[in-house]
Amino acid sequence: MHQTKYIFVTGGVTSSLGKGIIAASLAKLLQGKGYSVTIQKLDPYINIDPGTLNPYEHGECYVTDDGAETDLDLGHYERFLDTPTSQANNVTTGRIYQAVIDKERKGEYLGKTVQIIPHITDEIKHRIQLLGKTGEYDIVITEIGGTIGDIESLPYVEAVRQLLWEMGHTNALVIHLTLLPYLSTTGELKTKPTQHSVKSLMQSGVSPDILVCRTEYPMNDDIKNKLALFCNVEKQAIIESIDAETIYDVPNLMLQEGLDTVVLKKLHLPIKEPADMRKWNDFLKKLKNPKYTINIGLIGKYVELHDAYKSIVESTIHAGAANDVKVDIYWIHSEDLETKHIPDLLQHLDGIIVAPGFGSRGIEGKIKAVQYAREHKIPFLGICLGMQMAVIEFARNVLGLTDANSTEMDPTTQNPVIDIMESQKSITDKGGTMRLGSWDCKLKEESKAYKAYHNTKIAERHRHRYEFNNSYLDRFEKEGMLATGVNPETNLVEIIEVRDHPWFVGVQYHPEYKSTILTPHPLFLGFINAGLEYSLTK
Ligand code: GLN
Repeated sequence: MHQTKYIFVTGGVTSSLGKGIIAASLAKLLQGKGYSVTIQKLDPYINIDPGTLNPYEHGECYVTDDGAETDLDLGHYERFLDTPTSQANNVTTGRIYQAVIDKERKGEYLGKTVQIIPHITDEIKHRIQLLGKTGEYDIVITEIGGTIGDIESLPYVEAVRQLLWEMGHTNALVIHLTLLPYLSTTGELKTKPTQHSVKSLMQSGVSPDILVCRTEYPMNDDIKNKLALFCNVEKQAIIESIDAETIYDVPNLMLQEGLDTVVLKKLHLPIKEPADMRKWNDFLKKLKNPKYTINIGLIGKYVELHDAYKSIVESTIHAGAANDVKVDIYWIHSEDLETKHIPDLLQHLDGIIVAPGFGSRGIEGKIKAVQYAREHKIPFLGICLGMQMAVIEFARNVLGLTDANSTEMDPTTQNPVIDIMESQKSITDKGGTMRLGSWDCKLKEESKAYKAYHNTKIAERHRHRYEFNNSYLDRFEKEGMLATGVNPETNLVEIIEVRDHPWFVGVQYHPEYKSTILTPHPLFLGFINAGLEYSLTK
């Protein structure tokens, strides 16, 4: 029988050490050896999903094909592995408790006291094994969110302890990621925080099999010996993870440290040939040797926290490398565009992206950015709310509908060129109720979109409640804003383009969720290429 092997990744000392990147890098190496691998993230918060979280707190909400609103780490998994994830790849405490409470109400535990152990831990174990049970994967990597020692992570660590015991150490193992702080006064890397972190993991009955140590400076032998002795981990399983120039270097750094071979040995799996990283390394070579540089402005209202736009930025990097272009991102706060001199903020740009978003803060600034891009013929990509702002700008400044707006921002506008979708009108709950996930779109052949996709049938991921109001479509098309992509069943406008412009495209969907290292997204390729042409001819 096919035996799926499990790898658990825990984090110690501090948060934000990059468990997601280590998990994705290891998965990449195992994939490069021919293993089928997927990665799952367990998040210890009580929200059912991050869809109801403020991006300032949690960064971007990543959306999968099946419409799950998930943690941004799933974006890393997809970008690294080039394989899609789904709802099963992200589990939260909220979801676990909801499932257990639903079962309790149905009477599935009749007569029993429902408790964290065994009921919550059983539900966690069930969710961890769901992906493995599909039979599709040789290896499932499960990243436990949070830091060891957090109260809210305890049930997850207990579930991992039980699974290790049930499955045995050749079928499951634990990688613990920690930090070795550097003390500049003494010029040393310190191991004590790692020792303490391993100790608290052990207090929960879990011994790490592998330690991955984040560090600014190389670890010497003494440090490895010391950690091995005090943490009960073999020396060869102590892996240095030195700061990298880009996250895309991490798989090669892990390869040099032998993380993949240690893992395979411990799981009693064939080591095979070294991972095939040729395509990955072709990308890295292009990334590191650009011929051109272009300036792209990213207009949003969460620009203080770059993670809020993670997938967009990564998409520009993928498309940049493919075009031999280094993309310099200029983070522009949409509210600044409402008060400052617009050319000062935008005139140096070779391309403008207006980002997705919700609510009215900063939207007038976004509209001004659209106008500047349209009038100065600067390549423009409007994503979701960005597309809606492009429609409003065109209505106001070209069609002369000066009060045109979205009913999200002004429910009483006389010209609701963006309006709530019919299917959304009766919805009152906010969680998980948007138009989510993958929907089909049919492209017109004479369009920038078709030129980018080379296909008339595409499917892209969505996350919105409002849409282009089709009762205005004729007027828009007559004046030169065209609907070049529509949903074949509902006629919902998915793409708009301005005819008399070198590259002006707005999309109701999120192309950024589908760009990967090996398959940069066609629209980002088209946009960056237009930016390059603009920069060379201006
Ligand atoms: N707020 C807009 C809507 O709900 C756009 C959403 C987005 O940009 N993701 O339609």
